[in-house]
Amino acid sequence: MSIQQKQKAFIYGTQYYRVPNPPRDQHQYHLKRIKNELGFNTVKLFLQWNTQNIAPDKYDFEEMEEIFNICNREGLNVFVNTNLETCPYWLERQSPEARYVSANGQAIELGPNGQAQTGGYPSLCFHNNIVRDAAEKYLIKLVGTIKGNKSLIGYDCWNEPHLEPAWMDNLWGNMGDRLYCYCNASRVEFRKWLATKYNNIGILNSTWARSYGGWEDINPPNRHGNYADWLDWIRFWFDSISEHLSFRYGIIKKEDPEKFVMSHSGAVPPFLPRPNAFINNWSLAEQVDMWGTSFAPKFHNWSMSMSAGVIDATRSAARGKEIWISEMTGGSTSMGGFKKSPITRPKDIRAWNWLSVVYGVKAIIYWCYLEESTGLEAGSFGLIRYNGKNTERAQEAARQANLINKYFYIFKDYTPTADVAILYDPDNTSLLFAMENKDDRYSQSHSGYYEAVWENDLYAKYITYSSLEDLREKILIVPMCLTLPQDAADHIKNFVEKGGILVTDARMGLFDESGFLQSDIPSHGLADIAGLKEDEAFYSDPGNRPELNNPGNLPWPDEIYSGPEISITSPIQTNFRVHGYLTPLLLEGAECIGKWKNICLAAHNDYGKGEVYYFGTYLGLALSQREKGAFSLVSAILNKYVNPAVRGNMLRPRLIEGDNESLLVVFNVDKLKEFSETIILPGGYKSAYDVINNRKEIVIEENKVKLSVEPEGVRVLHLVK
Ligand SMILES: [Zn+2]
Repeated sequence: MSIQQKQKAFIYGTQYYRVPNPPRDQHQYHLKRIKNELGFNTVKLFLQWNTQNIAPDKYDFEEMEEIFNICNREGLNVFVNTNLETCPYWLERQSPEARYVSANGQAIELGPNGQAQTGGYPSLCFHNNIVRDAAEKYLIKLVGTIKGNKSLIGYDCWNEPHLEPAWMDNLWGNMGDRLYCYCNASRVEFRKWLATKYNNIGILNSTWARSYGGWEDINPPNRHGNYADWLDWIRFWFDSISEHLSFRYGIIKKEDPEKFVMSHSGAVPPFLPRPNAFINNWSLAEQVDMWGTSFAPKFHNWSMSMSAGVIDATRSAARGKEIWISEMTGGSTSMGGFKKSPITRPKDIRAWNWLSVVYGVKAIIYWCYLEESTGLEAGSFGLIRYNGKNTERAQEAARQANLINKYFYIFKDYTPTADVAILYDPDNTSLLFAMENKDDRYSQSHSGYYEAVWENDLYAKYITYSSLEDLREKILIVPMCLTLPQDAADHIKNFVEKGGILVTDARMGLFDESGFLQSDIPSHGLADIAGLKEDEAFYSDPGNRPELNNPGNLPWPDEIYSGPEISITSPIQTNFRVHGYLTPLLLEGAECIGKWKNICLAAHNDYGKGEVYYFGTYLGLALSQREKGAFSLVSAILNKYVNPAVRGNMLRPRLIEGDNESLLVVFNVDKLKEFSETIILPGGYKSAYDVINNRKEIVIEENKVKLSVEPEGVRVLHLVK
């Protein structure tokens, strides 16, 4: 039974408490307001280890218990976010060797951070058993103390799981200060992990191109040299962080088995380029009951489409588990102290709320209730001002909380069905990081394709190499596939043979899973399904210039390096510029559908019952640069095979279909212009009511409704048969 079915309501609430905010003498006042003035049903308490366990075997839960007592009385649900990222100082004194160590060799002393004003950050490295033991003791004591409260509904056992010090607010640091952990215990664990994986040092040597005499010779990679070691080091951390999440989950679940234990991501690759944080949301979501995401569109300057993509990717990683928006921005966000993002507007609240509902989210929690009081986040994030003043955005959240619960019966069992699958794998991020110290190009490729999916009113499912069994869609898009294992290639071949449509960028499977260049591209037998092989590739881009000895910033003399235009002849006639690489395609059965001069750069092939579209460039990068021709091309391919339930022109309609009642939700992504459009509905609807505007009736004529939507706005119609 899901938490909503138990609660019979959509979980709608806010992060409320993180020491030192709100002040202790104000809890009664604020919690009553949350319940009665805002009409929210849930609050989250962000509990920090170092503030509750200030000496060995000494715990202070008093203030937390005061809050629980108020919530028990007022009828507010509570869930707690347990945090081990602020460690007590006594433990650091006992075990200084357990400090996290950066790639630059610095052991990190505990201290405050933007989101950890009370210090103890970034905790100690959990590869040290003494840290795990102390953390376990604290969690058991905490859960034992709170589990009897009738207001307690569950636990978020790790806030934004990642290798914690990677995001430390070290304002003068370089990448070496953002790469962890090189402590002795982590090195030992890494060697054990390698020994389990390779069994024999000779096999590791041939895979890594090394000559180690034994496991103890191995150090983690600390500069950019080879690819295999980085791929394994990052995979080791994916496993380690997942195991640690499972450790926290297990402790809490054992003490309080009736309640949910979840977690939520602080970054949703491929939409956020953050390779050094070592986040694999697929393996993380597997460890917990439910999965969520932080959601700060203004901080990242996301368009509405990127925000939708983040939720599609979160739902994909959850693989059928319930998903939450665990931190929706309440106010402005801090861009690091002085600078702030624009403040959340009432129309943002409306759009983000309904975007969440449409993309299958089952709970919305704001970050946060009261503006932060000190440190880099001071004056930011709150729905409510630090002086207690209510705001238009908080009032709007109160209205939407009410509306979402009013119509919850229509969408409580709804999950969107994906139309298009997109292949994403963390290994590609890791390899790109090993190549150039960042993975932005991979993110851009994905964002580009997602824009095209969004503009065609379709939903996407992200698939990784280890979740290929989830692939049930007609179309598979493969952006920037730098590394590919043989079994994934076999799966893709089989997919096409049985009738799947593969759309792929150039250089598919350029490297194997250990980062070694493949002699034939596309690799691992995929040349058969593509009906072609690649010739030698040229680094080519509209922005490509010689970086050295080029005072006039002139392009290379040969046009082939400067992103020339590809003329596409099928399935439509259009053109767009080469981005990233220009890769001539040598046809072995495929049909050429796009050229520059006499070089084939786009091909189509029939294979088995399926088809392959192969591009001799990074089409995803062209899309990310808003190349119109690239959009027309991808739209033409998508429209050949999949059709959305409702379709817009400039507006983006989405339909939540129930048996007799449905919700039509229509977004306007444009930041400045209002648009008015007629949307064709599936047959059978007799009446339509405007959900946000007092159920005003909207005329349905011949299965069509006409409506206008303000810039960055949303309209919601309740359709009745
Ligand atoms: Zn360590």
